[in-house]
Amino acid sequence: NERVRVIGGGLAGCEAALQLASRGFQVDLYEMRPNRQTPAHRDGHLAQLVCSNSFKALGITSAHGLLKAELTLLGSYLLDCAREAAVPAGDSLTVNRDIFSELVEKKIAEFPNITLHREEVTSLEGDCPTLVAAGPLASDALADDIFKRLGSNRLHFFDAIAPVVETDSIDFDHAFYMNRWEKGETADFINCPLDKETYTEFVNKLCEAEATEPRPFEKRELFEGCLPVEEMARRGYETLRHGPMRPIGLGLGNNGHLWYAVIQLRAENKQKTLFNMVGFQTRLKWGTQKEIFTMVPALRNAKFARLGCMHRNTFIESPKFLDKTLRLRPELDCAKDIPPTWFAGQITGSEGYTEAVATGWYAAWNMAQTILHGHADPLPDESCIGSLMNRLVEENEDFQPMNFNFGLLPHHEGLKKKNKKEILAERAERAVREWIAARNMA
Ligand code: FAD
Repeated sequence: NERVRVIGGGLAGCEAALQLASRGFQVDLYEMRPNRQTPAHRDGHLAQLVCSNSFKALGITSAHGLLKAELTLLGSYLLDCAREAAVPAGDSLTVNRDIFSELVEKKIAEFPNITLHREEVTSLEGDCPTLVAAGPLASDALADDIFKRLGSNRLHFFDAIAPVVETDSIDFDHAFYMNRWEKGETADFINCPLDKETYTEFVNKLCEAEATEPRPFEKRELFEGCLPVEEMARRGYETLRHGPMRPIGLGLGNNGHLWYAVIQLRAENKQKTLFNMVGFQTRLKWGTQKEIFTMVPALRNAKFARLGCMHRNTFIESPKFLDKTLRLRPELDCAKDIPPTWFAGQITGSEGYTEAVATGWYAAWNMAQTILHGHADPLPDESCIGSLMNRLVEENEDFQPMNFNFGLLPHHEGLKKKNKKEILAERAERAVREWIAARNMA
């Protein structure tokens, strides 16, 4: 059996290891935790979700729903585990993170041809083809080796994690269970309303509050889809009311009008003993977080199981270095003295849990095809995974991480706005089904 190495036992690395093992490879999977921790992971578990516990929406006319539909057709192992670990959360796939990790670990252990090494890898040098999935918090030694080899500046921006609250510390005289627009069969969100006066004071405090860093990071270093709440507050009085604190779809307040502002909490576990503050990622000092978040009437006596924090996010300039199959381009000088190397996960500049799983699947598939048959086998451009890959490798002077979105799919002339998503989603799914059928993979 051909031996391959996978660096990183996160979302992309575990999916890749399982795909490679299922195709007969002898897989050496390297995970540095728990011996060496990252600033965001909590313990040694594989495939750990570091912030939100949600893989986002399910319906195929939503970007992440379509991505999941494709991954299901392609036989993603991690998506299966996510479904098994699901907790009720309206129309999204949200999991109990501990059960999810345990299921992934169990799957990995079921493959005798995967050897899990609890070791840090510090260099791309090696004696077998390698898939790098060391994530946005790749260890310094490995990140230094990669960036030195690529002759490229380290690229990074900063992300922030949202706090988690213990349910029995929430004051339900000032909170209620309800999903936005009452979607889903059970009400899985806790809503904490604020009146105008409290909201105003809350926003003022956020604007004045001290962050953990001595100076605010430059704006371009923050990922727009995951802005810290204090940064949103500074952008304008109304910003939060139109963002994570928007009151629409949550019924009416006691005065018969819409609530002024509402913070939503989403279940962290099936028992619903913990809830995270949706969209409240923050880099504020911990004492300050407690002081400000307990201004919310429902959270006056809140106990925080975890407070928010800020972290680095490392990625390579994929358009310069990777081909469409996520392989380090073999013709480049930097690829000459190392074994054939593929990249997957957040380190490629794809953003998001589901995208990490998708790139893990895709890089592993192409690695396997290249080793076994001498050529890669990309997915069609019409598929969301194919279009995400095009986005990752097409020329881009200001390359920044991105989630999959409908804008990446090739549009054709005459596409009407009205049914655009339905048409694009149907076409993407059909393209993947045909691609699978042509390979007798079903
Ligand atoms: P990871 O899941 O981080 O896996 C990488 C693994 O490699 C880790 O286990 C790490 O310990 C290991 N490793 C690192 N260096 C080495 C080495 N040298 N040798 C051996 N092992 C090594 N996306 C969302 O969709 N929703 C969110 O809420 C969200 N929040 C995020 C919050 C934070 C703090 C961060 C950093 C990212 C967040 N993301 C989120 C983005 C992204 O989806 C996740 O980071 C996702 O886990 C990326 O998957 P990955 O497999 O690339 O990396």
